[in-house]
Amino acid sequence: RGPVFEDQTPSPANSDSARDRAGVIHPMTDLQRHDREGPLLITRGDGVMVYDEDGKAYIEGVSGLWSVSLGFAQKRLADAAYRQLMELPSYHLFRHKSHPKAIELAERLLGIAPVPMSKVFFANSGSEANDTAIKLAWYYNNARGRPEKKKIIGRIGGYHGITVASGSLTGLARNHADFDLPLPRFLHADCPSHWRYGLPGESEADYAARLAANLEALILREGPETIAAFFAEPVIGSGGVIVPPRGYFDLIQPLLKKYDILFVADEVICGFGRLGAMFGCQVYGLEPDMIAIAKGLSSGYVPISAVMMNAKIWDACYAQSGKLGVFGHGFTYSGHPVAAAVALEALDLYEEFDIVGNVQRLAPVLQAGVQSLAGHPLVGEARGIGFLGGWELVSDKATKAPFPSPGMVGLMAERHCQARGVILRALGDTLTTAPPLVATADDIARIIAVVGEALDATHADLQAGVTI
Ligand code: PMP
Repeated sequence: RGPVFEDQTPSPANSDSARDRAGVIHPMTDLQRHDREGPLLITRGDGVMVYDEDGKAYIEGVSGLWSVSLGFAQKRLADAAYRQLMELPSYHLFRHKSHPKAIELAERLLGIAPVPMSKVFFANSGSEANDTAIKLAWYYNNARGRPEKKKIIGRIGGYHGITVASGSLTGLARNHADFDLPLPRFLHADCPSHWRYGLPGESEADYAARLAANLEALILREGPETIAAFFAEPVIGSGGVIVPPRGYFDLIQPLLKKYDILFVADEVICGFGRLGAMFGCQVYGLEPDMIAIAKGLSSGYVPISAVMMNAKIWDACYAQSGKLGVFGHGFTYSGHPVAAAVALEALDLYEEFDIVGNVQRLAPVLQAGVQSLAGHPLVGEARGIGFLGGWELVSDKATKAPFPSPGMVGLMAERHCQARGVILRALGDTLTTAPPLVATADDIARIIAVVGEALDATHADLQAGVTI
């Protein structure tokens, strides 16, 4: 046991920790390590802080899972949920039913969409939103009489969810292995990390051009008549905060148009202010046919997601469902009134708190902090934009060689942050931060200071041969 575990004490058999291990399977977790070490039990949150069972305070430096943008304990969101629970706690949108909150939320979303959008389809999670967009791309091409135009292109390193279809679209080996994914019909284009995959001396612009040429070659190899859609996050999140090279989307978008391939922007992380604009599309000049949103839509308080689609998609769906007599897709909780009420209140708060303005003001502070650690011996690349930051940790700064046991050093750094009262998330060996969008300059300074200490402590561990 190394210093990373200093603050851990064994838990008695009837403790929450023991009960957790007895009954709960944890998503995206090393199940055997969890069985040995148990959970960090969070019992309360307030603003940017969360508190564990012993009352120890942590800055939530990743907004939960990039979701709690407005911070914890926002009474307005809780009140909105309570009012709706008392008025109409549950209803659905199947078979011509509707309710005021779904109608109002659709209007609000169409009103703020970064490009003209025609309709909103509600779901509960990012995965469901992307599954819906995949199905709509297929439905669209059936409606257009092109049943062979069905392949879906994601990117290596992209994350779009974990269900069978959205998980196939995700381009991370750790989410495919032994789950028999990806399904046929799913292809993955290059990862846009210039630092990791750029050739020696290759500029960002040249790298972007090479990626676009590779994408075109992939499209031609498969046959454009077989490709339905290309999905991309404006900035890759769960793949390790990967900011696209300059000019990348300007080269990709015309290709998609040229080969009549739908473009779906996955704004599940970037949407609602995270990059310093309401949507990531606005930062990169994206003109998608569909947009997936979730997480920040309700500030993560209740599950809700949506797909916004343009008139091209909607018109095809409308026509096709006319032939079939039904639009045969939907979830029990599509447009759930409590979720919609909370989302509406969250949209009010984004405006009232000038969240986009806060991110614009403080992103330079965060990004300067991120870069202040670029020289650390463990940091291969320090990167970010808006309220997203990442430090990719490497065993050799000069060669960019990764560590032999992927994810372990990242986890050590994450643990050292946690011991110092900051919760961050290592994705592989990239330590990432995505502070709540209500964070202050002091919160950001604290996060950066702790990351610096944690990297030093991790470095010292490695020098001393301590691992976990
Ligand atoms: N898309 C992106 C960009 C995401 O970051 C995530 C979740 N991290 C998803 C989709 C999937 O969302 P969910 O976990 O709600 O299914």
